[in-house]
Amino acid sequence: MRDLDRLPKAHLHLHFTGSMRPETLQDLAVGYGVRLPSALLDGDPLRVPADERGWFRFQRLYDAARACVRSEADMRRILTEAVADDAAEGSRRLEIQVDPTSYAPFVGGLTPALEIVLDAARSAGQRHGVEVGVVVAASRMRHPLEARTLARLAALHAGDGPGQVVGFGLSNDERRGETSEFAAAFEIARRAGLASVPHGGELLGPAHVDSVLDHLSPDRLGHGVRAAEDPAVLDRVVGQGVALEVCPASNVSLGVYRDQAQVPLRALVDAGATVALGADDPLLFGSRLTGQYEAARTVHGFTDADLAALAKSSIRASRASDQTRARLIGEVDAWLAEPDPAAARAAS
Ligand SMILES: [Zn+2]
Repeated sequence: MRDLDRLPKAHLHLHFTGSMRPETLQDLAVGYGVRLPSALLDGDPLRVPADERGWFRFQRLYDAARACVRSEADMRRILTEAVADDAAEGSRRLEIQVDPTSYAPFVGGLTPALEIVLDAARSAGQRHGVEVGVVVAASRMRHPLEARTLARLAALHAGDGPGQVVGFGLSNDERRGETSEFAAAFEIARRAGLASVPHGGELLGPAHVDSVLDHLSPDRLGHGVRAAEDPAVLDRVVGQGVALEVCPASNVSLGVYRDQAQVPLRALVDAGATVALGADDPLLFGSRLTGQYEAARTVHGFTDADLAALAKSSIRASRASDQTRARLIGEVDAWLAEPDPAAARAAS
C-alpha cells in the first residue's frame, strides 16, 4: 500500500469557503467578534438528512463561515492555505470553485473579488507547486440574470493556465431554480471556452442529471453520483464523456447515502465513467482530498493500480493543458512503479 498523499492527482471539486481550515475560521471569527455555531467548532463531520431541513442546516453553517470572510487578506489567506493543504495531499492541479458575489461588497465589487482570487491562485500555486485554476460558480438560489453577469465576468479571465478561470459552475440546493433558466449563462461561458461544470445528481436523482445534460451541456458534473440509479442515464453520462466529480464524504454528510459503502463509486467506475474524487467542503465534511482516496481503498477495495487509474482519471478530467496532463500522468505511473512498502516489508 503506497502513500496516498504522494499519489499525484487533480482536485476538481473544492469550494473556496468550504476549503477553510477550522483554525482559520476560528481566527477570523475571533477577529470580527463573531460567535460561531458550535457545530462548526466541534471537529465532527456534519451529518444531516437529505431533505430540505438537512440542507437548510448545512446552508446555515456554510453562511456562518462565509460571514467571517470580510477582506482581501482573509480571501488571500483562505486560498493560500487551500493550495498548501492540497499540495500536502498530492494535488498537482486544483480547480477551486468560488462565487465572488458574497465577497464583492468587502473588496469593491465582483471584478476585484475575482481578481483577488485569481492573483492568490497564481502566487500560491507557484509557491506550492500546484497549478491552480478557478471555477466561477453561480447560485441556483439567485436570479439567472446574475448567473449571466458572472459568466461574462468569468469569460474575461478565461484560460487554462494558472490563475485563470477554467470553468463555470452552478451550485446550491439542486431543488431550487429551474435548470433550463441557467442555459443562457452557460452558453456565454462555453463561447469563451470555459468548461461547463454545474452541480447535479446528488440531492436529486437521475432525472435531474438528465435535465442538467439537456440544458447545460456539462463537461463535468459536480457529483452526478445518482446517475447510478438509472442505467440509461448512466449510459448517457458515459457516452457523452461527462466526467463525475465524486465527493464521497459530502454524500454521506448530506445524507444522500447512509455510509461510505453505499456510495456507488465502484459501479460508476465499472460503467466506464470518468471519475474525479473531490472533497467539496472539508470544513464541514471533515476530510480532505486524500481522505476520499483512502475511502476508495479501505471501503471499496481499490488496489494501488485502481487508485492510480482514479488519479489519472481526475487528471484527464481537468482543464490542464495537454502538456501538464501528460506530465502528471507520467508522475502517477512513477508512483505506481515504486515498490510497495508493505510488500517489501512482508518479503524481508
Ligand atoms: Zn460542491
